[in-house]
Amino acid sequence: MPLQDENWNTIHASAFSHARALMRPATATLRPHGGVRYRCPVTGSFVLVTDEPTLAALARPHARLRCADCGEMHLMTLAAEDPVVATTDD
Ligand SMILES: [Zn+2]
Repeated sequence: MPLQDENWNTIHASAFSHARALMRPATATLRPHGGVRYRCPVTGSFVLVTDEPTLAALARPHARLRCADCGEMHLMTLAAEDPVVATTDD
């Protein structure tokens, strides 16, 4: 039954987008001495990431990361530079 297959796919796709909507976005910035820092959107705390497997995962677009601070999954965006560093650099 082709109609049943199509219906199953629709349910599956909407369940997937619902899961994505639950993820809070966070912006990660590169640190001058290596590693990446982001601000947890749940607790507001800064989290420093230095381990290689996590850094490699963050380099990909639409990376997801299990937050070390709040334990939730965040949708990470890697920014080119840290705004705080940019203002003190010049
Ligand atoms: Zn978090």
